[in-house]
Parts: sequence; C-alpha cells; structure tokens
Amino acid sequence: QQDTFKQVISHAKEYGYIFSSSEIYDGLSAVYDYGQNGVELKKNIKDYWWKSMVQMNQNIVGLDAAILMHPKTWEASGHVNAFNDPLIDNKDSKKRYRADVLVEDYVEKINQKAQKEINKAKKRFGETFNEEEFVTTNPRVIRYQEEQKTIMERLAKSLTEENLADVKALIEELGIACPESGSKNWTDVKQFNLMFGTKLGASADSATDLYLRPETAQGIFVNFANVQKTGRMKIPFGIAQIGKAFRNEIVARQFIFRQREFEQMEMQFFVRPGEELKWFEHWKETRQNWHASLGLGEENYRFHDHEKMAHYANAATDIEFNFPFGFKELEGIHSRTDFDLKAHEEHSGKKLQFFDPELNKNYVPYVIETSIGLDRMFLAIFSSALKEEELEDGSTRTVLKLPSILAPVKAAVFPLVKKDGLPEIAQEIIEELQWDFNVIYDEKDAVGRRYRRQDANGTPFCITVDHDTKEDNQVTIRHRDTMEQKRVPISELKSIIAQEIDF
Ligand code: ATP
Repeated sequence: QQDTFKQVISHAKEYGYIFSSSEIYDGLSAVYDYGQNGVELKKNIKDYWWKSMVQMNQNIVGLDAAILMHPKTWEASGHVNAFNDPLIDNKDSKKRYRADVLVEDYVEKINQKAQKEINKAKKRFGETFNEEEFVTTNPRVIRYQEEQKTIMERLAKSLTEENLADVKALIEELGIACPESGSKNWTDVKQFNLMFGTKLGASADSATDLYLRPETAQGIFVNFANVQKTGRMKIPFGIAQIGKAFRNEIVARQFIFRQREFEQMEMQFFVRPGEELKWFEHWKETRQNWHASLGLGEENYRFHDHEKMAHYANAATDIEFNFPFGFKELEGIHSRTDFDLKAHEEHSGKKLQFFDPELNKNYVPYVIETSIGLDRMFLAIFSSALKEEELEDGSTRTVLKLPSILAPVKAAVFPLVKKDGLPEIAQEIIEELQWDFNVIYDEKDAVGRRYRRQDANGTPFCITVDHDTKEDNQVTIRHRDTMEQKRVPISELKSIIAQEIDF
C-alpha cells in the first residue's frame, strides 16, 4: 500500500499533474500546485460535475461567491464555536495528531485484517465463494466487524458530547502508539479551531478580523434569497458552487487528500420541510450513479451512513473511496434541516423564506447538501487509474487509465519520421482537431516510446502519420487501453474521438 501511494505521488509529479507548492523553497506543508496536466484533469472533473448538476437539472443554478465573507457568517454557521479538531500530543516525540484520526486509522487496520480473511477464503473457495454469506457467518470476520463498530460508536459519542477525556481513554485502552516513535505517552485532548484568520483593511486598529472560508456552503446560504428571487426559483431547487476552501488542518500527511487550501464542489438543494428525507435518498442515489458513471470500480466505493451527526444534520451519509491508504471520505451528503438559513435569519435580521404558492404559506426551506472535495476526487481518479501492466511479450508498461472524458490530452499526433512532409501533415491534423479537443504533437523518439509516454500520461488516443498517409489520407489510430491499432481516414478522427468522450 505504502509503495503504491509513493508511486502515485511520484507519477503525479513526473507527468506534470501535481507539484509541491513553492517547491524551490522546499515546499509548504499540505499545499499543492496543479501542473500542466493536473490543471486539465481538474478542469475536466469540474466540468463533468457542473454539467451533471447544473446543466442537466433545470431547477439547479450555479453561483460563485467570494472567499472572504462578513465575519458574522461564521458565528451564524457555528464555525467560530464548533469548527474544531480534537488534538492530542505525544509527550515523547512532541508530535501532534488528530485524536479521532488516530482512532480511525486503528479501525482501518482492523478492517484490513477482515479483508485479508475474505481474500484468503476467496482464493480457497474459488468460484463457489459467497462473500455475503462468508462475512455474516465467519466468526473472525464477525469479531473484526463488531470491534470496529464498537470503537467507532464510542468515538462518535465522545466527540459529539465533547467528552474529550474519553477520546484519550479510548486511545490508551486500544494501546495506540505514536506512529512515528512508538510511544504511548499521550497528553490530554484539546480542541483546535481550523479556520484561517486574516485582516481586512490597512491600519492595525481599524482592521476587521476575517476568516478565509472553510467551506463553500455558507456562500450559498447567504445568497439564498438573491438567487431565489432573481432566478424566480421554485422549491425544490438547488444552488451549486465550485470554489476554494481553507482549513488549518493538523494532520496533513496524505498528499492532496487533506490540504490546507483545497476546492469543494457543493450543491445545496432547498426543499419543503418534511420532505427532506425523501430528497436525501434521491441525492444519495443520484450521487452514487454519478460516481458509477466514471467506472472507477464498484469495489472501490463504500457507503457509510452516519451515526455521528454534525450539529446541523438529521441524516448524513459518506461516500468513501479506497484511496492508496484505505477507505476514506470522498463525498458527504447531509440533510442539514433549516439550521443554516434559520441561523442566518437570526444573525442578519433578514428573512430567508420561501412563499410556497401550493401551500399558500411562507417557510424556511430545509436543505440537502452534496459536498465533494475536488482534490479528493482527483486523487481517487488518478490513484485508481495508475496501473502496471504485464504485456504478452513479457515486458511491462505503466498506463494511466483515466476515464477518457476526463483525460487531460485526448489525442497525441505523431509523424512516423521527422521528414518527408509527415510533420506537416501531423500539424494539419492538430489544427483541425484542436478546435474540439486538447491534442498534442510529439515527434521525439521511436513511435513505441512515444506510445509508452502517452500511456503513462493517460492519453486515450495516439494517431500516427506515415508515408502511406500521403497516398491514402489514412492514419493509424491506437487506443491506450486495448493497444489496438486501426487504419482510419483522417476525416473520421473527429467522430472517433468524440464518440469515446461522449457525456
Ligand atoms: P474529514 O473528516 O476527512 O476532515 P470533513 O468531514 O471535515 O472531512 P466536510 O466538512 O464534510 O469534510 O467537507 C466536504 C468535503 O470536502 C469532504 O468530503 C472532502 O472531500 C472535502 N475536504 C474536506 N476537508 C478537506 C481537506 N482538508 N483537503 C481536501 N479536501 C477536503
């Protein structure tokens, strides 16, 4: 696992997907830059989300609210008081950890043990293996599952009741050691607020304390009435937003999974009070289908309904993904009740209500939220796409099997040789295709090496111009995944690529 993760990080750098921020100054912890390919993949993920949420739904519209917001926003939302992480220090190593993450990592190890038992049995029984039956009858697996459940329930309880002493007790009872030093000498658990503070205005005394937004959601809530009125929106309707969020994360050791500056893709869906659980189910299913449509592998997803609920929610589920370091939260779907709009009504003194003509009354709508981290989605896609494949001739190739619709470059065009007019024909093909797709030219090295380079970059198609092209106007097109090569007329290239990346 550790090796795959390292491979993912180094591949992301080598192919211009992700660099450490300000790397020439040795980087900034948990802050990353997206390189020439990363920016394209990220943009394609955003477009794919936006299209499915906004363009395909007549009752969902977009928004781009500012990162800086009035400071009262964060009092109303509860972030000033409650946006805390429980921290614990190891007295010997002096390292600081998130207490809940220490426990979650411990639980993930138990989960891996259970998974090992399942895999062993799978091998032993072969075709006749019935996983569902096995996990409900095998005493070891049952014990592992119960152990996980008990620990997570206790953790949830001690976090929501702010009974932090019990989190420490739990860590001690489980014998969790400091991952770096192996020491079990822990301090008490303390709360730490995750918001980044900054100042508005020039002079020190007149400056106002502000926060960089820790989530995009509040920008949507404070604009509820603006959008509803000017867009003449009728309930149920949604507002979607993609934007940066900032959190002063303490445990930030999982590459782009947990960053201090990251992007969220959020949608708040406003519904009639009492209908929220129906819409919660609707969005749970819709978002699961969205993930399935990308084909990252059903086995890489896990859906986990929450027992531990945030103060504003009456139902919540996580979509978890099998990252290189185990299953972790990728997206959250929350039934947020009328908590946010009511809180903003109270703090602003402005009405945030909807007149429902069918019921003939005003009310504060209830809200279903879908919230996905763009960078986490990027990591899910990138890490599950990276494969080492053994070929028939015994050699191996590194291939990045990105969903074609998301691949940064859709096709690379090669002249077989750098002479005889072939580069010119290749350039003409590029000029034709680049109106519709991101395509690149490559003439360096033998064609086989150029194929390998594009495989590792995730490019679905390679197009090679050879001497026959001058006679028959045909080129060889090769597909990344099947490595199949076909001769096709130049005039058909556009439709072949378009078909592959059809939404
Ligand atoms: P976690 O428990 O992993 O810290 P969270 O429950 O605090 O996450 P939410 O507040 O629900 O996360 O935020 C919604 C989504 O934003 C998450 O599902 C995740 O994909 C993304 N996200 C949250 N924090 C970060 C971060 N520090 N870096 C990258 N993405 C993040």
